[in-house]
Amino acid sequence: MKRIAVGQLLQETNTLNPLQTTRRHFEIYGLDQGEAVMGQYGHTEELSGFATLPQLLGEPVEWVGLLRARAWSGGVLVPGLLAEIVEAFTAPLRGQQVDGLLLSLHGAQAAAEDPDVTGALLQALRQTLGPQVPIVATLDLHANLTPRMVQSAEVLVGYHTFPHIDQVGCGQRAARAMAHILRTGTRPRVSAWKMPLLTNTDGRTTDRGVLVDLWRELVAAEARPEVLSTAIYMAQPWLDVPALGWTLYQAYLDEYPPLDPQTVARTCWQTRAHRQTPFLRPAELVPAALAIPGRPVAVSESHDATNSGAPGDSTLLLAALTSTAIPEGGALTFCVDPLAVDQCVRAREGAVLELQVGGKVDPYSHPLSLRARVVRLGRVAYTLSGHGGHNLPVDMGRAAVITSGDATVVLVEETGPGSSPKLYEAVGLDPRDFKIVVAKSPEGFRQDYEPFAAGILYCGAPGCATPLLLEAGFRSVSRPLYPLDEIELPQAPWAGEMMR
Ligand SMILES: [Zn+2]
Repeated sequence: MKRIAVGQLLQETNTLNPLQTTRRHFEIYGLDQGEAVMGQYGHTEELSGFATLPQLLGEPVEWVGLLRARAWSGGVLVPGLLAEIVEAFTAPLRGQQVDGLLLSLHGAQAAAEDPDVTGALLQALRQTLGPQVPIVATLDLHANLTPRMVQSAEVLVGYHTFPHIDQVGCGQRAARAMAHILRTGTRPRVSAWKMPLLTNTDGRTTDRGVLVDLWRELVAAEARPEVLSTAIYMAQPWLDVPALGWTLYQAYLDEYPPLDPQTVARTCWQTRAHRQTPFLRPAELVPAALAIPGRPVAVSESHDATNSGAPGDSTLLLAALTSTAIPEGGALTFCVDPLAVDQCVRAREGAVLELQVGGKVDPYSHPLSLRARVVRLGRVAYTLSGHGGHNLPVDMGRAAVITSGDATVVLVEETGPGSSPKLYEAVGLDPRDFKIVVAKSPEGFRQDYEPFAAGILYCGAPGCATPLLLEAGFRSVSRPLYPLDEIELPQAPWAGEMMR
């Protein structure tokens, strides 16, 4: 029987969000150690894919649970938290033998002390385990790969879908790579090719974006027996850290990688200026939605996307929604504002009060003065399956549904998925009853809303997850970097092959 260590450290970081991520943000999603890692969370996300390892190996597996730490996207880890997490992962491995380590990680995660949490953890685990024990880790498609990550793991396996709906499949593919290494004792070669390229999510979905054909090629390549992993990591762009950019990663058993890195890099580079979405400013949004027949019109409030780690309390679009007449059902949106929730709870259902809503964390907007009626109090808690999670228990805390003008606003205490209509359904609201429904998600919301939406619109403004990257104010990224610099592909000495 093989003994396999297993753990999860999953959160996407947005370095523009001034609200740092604390231990409490992980506790909301279940911070657990030991047997609970697979015992309690073995049916969630990538871990449920890892659970197929015994079948793939043809023998039972004894799981050695390290840590399960999952939080919703947000600001950098507060000082000290990274060290605490690394200790919780490594301590159980000291003085005991394991045959392999399977990890569910993100790859675009930063701490106050270290811009590369994923690399720091992988490096610490490699040092603890020594060079012989294979490490296979999964990453989000928006990971920013670093030499530390590439050098510390035998294989990195990434999502093949955006919207992200293959968490389970990704975990299974990691289990497949681990099973191969354990069965044969062979280690793959690895090629990781960095591109000095940064894009927002516009036109970058894997089902209909500009690189659909390339994604098909990558997926087909990984299905070959001599290939253990292929993916393009498109880097979450609101991560102001050195060496931020796209990476092509391949782990393979032949002499050469299945895809020629320079050819792939050129293909990606040729699409660098691709745009297919007109981003409407908040003032343009309501008229554009009213011009679409039927309801609801699903709106991406991309600049405040909680799915991209923004605080979820921008008032730029909220101001337009609460001050404009919106017939045919009004607008439905949400705002992360624990103070306003508390005021509504104290005032009770039915009360009318003056509230300062939002703009308390978001550095790009101010609190909005609203005269609001508290129509309902409750809690936003549900299980997320689809884009952003699989069997993931979500808890956004106490909630207050308020109305102001033609807008209905769900005030919540904690951040969480901005892409799922379940947020509204959890407090008894049906998005289909409204003319406009807001998703704080740049693209993944389409997976949930498209089946019933009369139309889809994208709103863009200054914010922690602004799609207008030239307005994001990068300071720490390595230069030159497109689109901050107009360069040709070979002109960035920090990019190219990441040596193992
Ligand atoms: Zn992602």
